[in-house]
Amino acid sequence: MNTWKCSKCGYTVEAEAPPEQCPSCNEKCEFLNVTCYIPECGDTGSDPRLS
Ligand SMILES: [Zn+2]
Repeated sequence: MNTWKCSKCGYTVEAEAPPEQCPSCNEKCEFLNVTCYIPECGDTGSDPRLS
């Protein structure tokens, strides 16, 4: 399970894949995978893609 965050409104949703349409914006937003940024991750929050 991944955590996705809307880049526009910050809405987060847990799913295998990001939703087609943001339930909050009601439009096609860009969803960022923030799985390792949430406290529940218990990790350092580092993302190898951003290093
Ligand atoms: Zn949104």
